[in-house]
Amino acid sequence: MKRSVCVAGGGASGMMAAIAAAKAGAKVTLLEKNDRMGKKILMTGNGKCNLTNLDMNISAYYTEDKDSLVGKVLEQFGEKDLVELFKELGMDVTVARDLYVYPNTQTAATVLNVLRRALTYYEVMCKTEATVKNIKKESRSFCIETDKEAYTADRVIISMGGKSFPKTGSDGAGFLLAKKLGFQVQPDYPALTALICPVEGQKIISGLRADGAVALSIDGKKVFQDFGQIQFTDYGLSGIPVFQISRFASQLLWNKGKKERDRHCIEVKINLFPHMTREELYRHIENQLAMFSHMSYEDAMSGLLHKKWIVFFGRRLGLFKYPDALSIPRKLIKELSYELTELPFPVEGVKGYDFCQVTGGGVDLSCVDEHLQSRMQPGLFLTGEILDVTGKCGGYNLQWAFSTGYIAGTYAAE
Ligand SMILES: Cc1cc2nc3c(=O)[nH]c(=O)nc-3n(C[C@H](O)[C@H](O)[C@H](O)COP(=O)(O)OP(=O)(O)OC[C@H]3O[C@@H](n4cnc5c(N)ncnc54)[C@H](O)[C@@H]3O)c2cc1C
Repeated sequence: MKRSVCVAGGGASGMMAAIAAAKAGAKVTLLEKNDRMGKKILMTGNGKCNLTNLDMNISAYYTEDKDSLVGKVLEQFGEKDLVELFKELGMDVTVARDLYVYPNTQTAATVLNVLRRALTYYEVMCKTEATVKNIKKESRSFCIETDKEAYTADRVIISMGGKSFPKTGSDGAGFLLAKKLGFQVQPDYPALTALICPVEGQKIISGLRADGAVALSIDGKKVFQDFGQIQFTDYGLSGIPVFQISRFASQLLWNKGKKERDRHCIEVKINLFPHMTREELYRHIENQLAMFSHMSYEDAMSGLLHKKWIVFFGRRLGLFKYPDALSIPRKLIKELSYELTELPFPVEGVKGYDFCQVTGGGVDLSCVDEHLQSRMQPGLFLTGEILDVTGKCGGYNLQWAFSTGYIAGTYAAE
């Protein structure tokens, strides 16, 4: 007799788990609360779906797990296995900047269509508009209760996601169910999100994008730094390098009362000239001002900085009051070069689940073995974002979802 497997949640990891289990010979039912599977996949990679990264290593993941389940998972099913599997399912890939893997069509819909076609090919019974409410262990099987009917299966895989972008279906119900089933669930927080950091003159620079370095410090200690395109907004900072550092601020600020938030001094410093030392930048500005010494500060700086930055720093440092570039004191040029390489943004909060790409926290990794099977309830598996692992931007989160889905599906079918 075929083993019966029920997968709760039809996102990236749930679809992969269902395909792997069916491929391994199980009779599979996939339950999804939305009217379609995999809504979130369509949004990934700005609609192109960055499905993995060729520089795959555990340092791209954050988890409290000391035994590195992440490493064991990636050893069993890594980036090359994923690319091979997609090829087997009939999808070619393309690699951007030697690292970032996308479908050859550069369209996220291709990934979703290929997964849905595979579900049909492997005869997975897909039930949409089926919201899983409860899972109960019966003597030799599990009963999976939805808002409509109940299903019985030998094995259950919970792939209900976290809380990010709840309109795609992942609204935290997975965490509640996991708690009810006795799993240890770490407090959740938005990871890979934007930072709320009000500064004077914010409106002037809102809408600007600039390549630079972003460094996060907590209580005066630099904890993380990243490079890339920074977006300046009317509430603070966004863009990939800001997303990469956001989790450290989010852990301290999310869901915390004012008193707790005020206990820490969290600050971002932006370096708009990371390719120069401060001394080099100072000389560069000095030369520029000397060359156009008879002109206004604004005109003299116009080849060096975007007009909005000229206004921002001009007001911030009082540079407009000098009649020409020649009369700007050296002390202020020093201060300008300092600010251009260490512009401080105090972090007051983070953008929430409607904005963030992944959820930090979730089911503690100590609850599952290397096949993602519950240590306390054999036959029950967990995959994807519901687990307490987050990856950096760049394909690491989908790889985690697909790897855990593939491994759990394969072992659940045994
Ligand atoms: C805007 C955006 C862009 C992103 N871009 C990338 C990228 O380019 N590369 C990358 O690696 N990662 C990216 N990510 C992250 C990636 O999408 C997630 O890590 C991944 O989708 C997690 O997969 P999952 O299956 O665990 O959860 P989800 O994809 O959230 O799937 C969970 C599914 O479970 C269903 N569900 C929830 N509750 C129930 C219930 N009670 N009953 C039945 N079904 C239920 C949901 O409707 C949903 O379909 C992005 C995320 C966002 C939001």
